Amino acid sequence: MTVEEQLIQHAKEGKLLVHKCTECGYLHLSTAYYCLKCGSKGFEDVLLDGTGTIATYTIITVAPAGFEKFTPYAFVVLKLDQSDLRISGFMAGIATPADLPVGTKARIAGFEDNCGIIIKKQ
Ligand SMILES: [Zn+2]
Repeated sequence: MTVEEQLIQHAKEGKLLVHKCTECGYLHLSTAYYCLKCGSKGFEDVLLDGTGTIATYTIITVAPAGFEKFTPYAFVVLKLDQSDLRISGFMAGIATPADLPVGTKARIAGFEDNCGIIIKKQ
């Protein structure tokens, strides 16, 4: 399996696959190729719980073709509870900022080919 396929499989289980530097322990998204802290290229896989809080987001009200059924939705940035890592994902049904205050508890809730990582409120 590719790293991306592994990431998708774990996202469907509500987990986030990350890379932990074997030299210094710094955590990275699984797309990293070398450690941002020490430059090492040695990583081990670590699974984090996909729970966190909403750091920021963009509401999409005019959808690209194929996304009409999801509108309105948001591209959200989720800061994980277990690390300082942030991931971006897709949250359906968000029309105004009142629907999603920054700091709202949320979690990874799956993966869809068109949307990427699906994030839902906890
Ligand atoms: Zn490192």
